[in-house]
Amino acid sequence: MDVSTTERRRQTRSSVYHYLYENQNFCTRQNLAQALGLSLPTISQNLTELMDAGLVRFTGQSQSTGGRKAAGLAIVPDARIAVGVSITETRLRFSAADLRLNEVAYHRITYGSLFEMEDLGLLVQRELEHFLDGFHIDRSRLLGVGITLPGVISAAGDRILLAPTLRMKDIRLEGLTKRIPYPTFVENDATSSGYAEWFARGDRSNMAYLSLENGVGGAVIINGAVYGGDNRRSGEFGHMCVEPGGLPCACGKWGCLEAYCSARRVSDNLGITLKEFFRRVEEGEQFYALLWKDYLLHLAVGASNIRMALDCQVVLGGFMSQYLTPYLPVLRDYAAANNPYEKGAEYLELSKLRSHAVPLGAALHFIRQFLDGI
Ligand SMILES: [Zn+2]
Repeated sequence: MDVSTTERRRQTRSSVYHYLYENQNFCTRQNLAQALGLSLPTISQNLTELMDAGLVRFTGQSQSTGGRKAAGLAIVPDARIAVGVSITETRLRFSAADLRLNEVAYHRITYGSLFEMEDLGLLVQRELEHFLDGFHIDRSRLLGVGITLPGVISAAGDRILLAPTLRMKDIRLEGLTKRIPYPTFVENDATSSGYAEWFARGDRSNMAYLSLENGVGGAVIINGAVYGGDNRRSGEFGHMCVEPGGLPCACGKWGCLEAYCSARRVSDNLGITLKEFFRRVEEGEQFYALLWKDYLLHLAVGASNIRMALDCQVVLGGFMSQYLTPYLPVLRDYAAANNPYEKGAEYLELSKLRSHAVPLGAALHFIRQFLDGI
């Protein structure tokens, strides 16, 4: 068989699988044949291959079609599993997800002190195996382990260039990944959560993701893929200047979006929790209300600039986003005031994935790689 025939067969099998993946309604062999314009024998042949590979199964449902029962078909979501590991200065989080990015296991551990890369590598390796054992995850189905760090990763993916919160600068990632006996991939945490959010939204439209946590970052997803930029620094929205000569930023510059919209500005820096901050805003305490207005005004500048540069939906995520629901209308008003092209700012939305987006996005890297390869 020549290469083109092999490739054509793969594409046919892939189209059968992806039709079942995308269309979750009841689907029979006849439905598939009709939708894909293929003959029933071709559909049957491909289904046999996909079923032999454990990727597709009969759903067990059946519907009456003119007196005959027809078997429903569906993909097997847990035919493969991917794991995502999120590393921050205080905790490790593990998520395992199936091929539909449903979380099938989650575990978190906290620790008190910072690590050298080698120590971190040992810890991740040990805890990863505990996690796999603890949740009885079949290693033969494990596609890989995505790891996220709060920092800028080198274009080649082999070094962490800068991770201020981990106090790491220009360090090889080998120490982190070399003991893990599965395929690994290392990504920036905000990029990862943006990617998971994009996937969870399901509309497959272009999207800029702005992650609001103690650090402010983001991701740009264009045509279904993360746009990394020439240096993997695309989406570093936190260090976009929103106030020349303004507040000092952790990066050493002034007036960055992160200096204005870090969660720390309205919690740790005031010696109170976020919950307490918003209680005081709601009660109309002037100092807090004014500070919050300033936060929103600068956030609106940032969001509006992103819209102007990329002309796509701007989704606000990160743990701050859970407090933003009541303020979304006023935030949209502020953003709209900066934009001569459109009246409102409906492009500004809150994230749907409220938790575990970071590790899930890391797992998604391997899931999409697998789906693309079918
Ligand atoms: Zn900065």
